[in-house]
Amino acid sequence: MHLPFAENYRIKMVEPIRKSTREERKRWIREARYNLFNLRSDQVFVDLLTDSGTGAMSDQQWAAVMTGDESYAGSSSYFNLQDSIKRILGFDHFLPTHQGRAAENVLFSALVKDGDIVPGNSHFDTTKGHIEFRHAKAIDCTIDEAFDTTLDHPFKGNIDLVKLEMVLSTYPKEQIPMIIVTVTCNTSGGQPVSMKNLREVYALAQKYGIKVIFDSARFAENAYFIKTREEGYKEKSIKEIVREMYSYSDGMTMSSKKDGIVNIGGFIAFRDEETYKKCTMFNILFEGFITYGGMAGRDMNALAVGLDEATEMDYLEARIGQVRHLGEKLLSYGIPIQYPIGGHAIFVDAKKFLPHVPREEYIAQTLAIELYIEAGVRGVEIGTILADRDPDTRVNRYPDLELVRLAIPRRTYTNNHMDYVAAGLKNVFDRRDQIKNGFKIVREAPILRHFTVELDKL
Ligand SMILES: *Cc1c(COP(=O)(O)O)cnc(C)c1O
Repeated sequence: MHLPFAENYRIKMVEPIRKSTREERKRWIREARYNLFNLRSDQVFVDLLTDSGTGAMSDQQWAAVMTGDESYAGSSSYFNLQDSIKRILGFDHFLPTHQGRAAENVLFSALVKDGDIVPGNSHFDTTKGHIEFRHAKAIDCTIDEAFDTTLDHPFKGNIDLVKLEMVLSTYPKEQIPMIIVTVTCNTSGGQPVSMKNLREVYALAQKYGIKVIFDSARFAENAYFIKTREEGYKEKSIKEIVREMYSYSDGMTMSSKKDGIVNIGGFIAFRDEETYKKCTMFNILFEGFITYGGMAGRDMNALAVGLDEATEMDYLEARIGQVRHLGEKLLSYGIPIQYPIGGHAIFVDAKKFLPHVPREEYIAQTLAIELYIEAGVRGVEIGTILADRDPDTRVNRYPDLELVRLAIPRRTYTNNHMDYVAAGLKNVFDRRDQIKNGFKIVREAPILRHFTVELDKL
């Protein structure tokens, strides 16, 4: 008999989570003003709000925590992290930061100025925020295929080279501080970028004399998709693939809360010393001295180990296999989700799921709340509430897609939990024709309203 896949770890410590009743959940979500961010974590049974900083560390990482060196300058933890970054990613120079957006803040403070243009593949929201905050402009050059949820394409994170060259040839070189390639592309649904595309983007960038920076939160998951989907990589190890990926870049920003498998942390890394030197001043100003930059020594130690573990095929098969397990279950129930299934999350197509709720009543938010009431599962709305109002006209911006994202924390839940989530969603799906009313906003902040918005039932 064929031996089935099984995780390459066993569980040494468990954390109890509590089921609740439907009546409790109805009361809690009402008290939370129908905003899932306002729920206490103990009111949630399976928490799929985000995979950021919510994963489980290994025994080796916890052992590294205990040997962390908290010296202000020159701690051994810093040098451990330096070794991992050099060996796994190939960069000589790096600066620790407290998380990914802090890495962006330091890098962009050094390189991005008023009026600049930063092309890339669907920039992540904090990345775009940091670019626009500096009165620069992020231009999305993702391939068109990425925006059709049902279209099958192995690398929907790819950059369209024609769109990119249009940007590079339109603006002067001095106005384009960098191209940002996000691996995997979070905004388009955890979709990977192919090695061929990375190679071609880098060649084009070199032709125009422009830097390529990888926004690297899920770089290891990207390498997994290259290994399993791209011709010529099946026999290569994840670490070999990662080294080749970074050979097509000049530097990177990292949110270690994702593929670093730690609860907090980030960094920037470069090939050339000059960019590193430009960034050191901002790192000291915003984050901390260059050998800790907002991270405790123990966290740098855990990250040094986490980078190694995340770039092992056994780990990635368990990780991405679990996301796929949930996705395939939902597909077997006929539930509309974004396809192909990405690396870190399932995106449920709420417009197709709830055809009777008008868009003015926040379709994806309505579905996320129904799922919470049904099963105590917390996802997150990626739809009209997240899209905010138009800054000039103050009318709601209605995005093409109304999605509920179910992000899976690393090494945290079992496939039984995934089956539970799928059953919860199936129950909502079975009664979808009775769900006709959504919500109205009673209070909201002028920007980033989704975190604090208050709603009322219609
Ligand atoms: C999470 C993330 C960031 C921001 O990182 P934080 O650690 O949350 O500040 C930037 N880019 C991508 C692609 C991300 O997924």
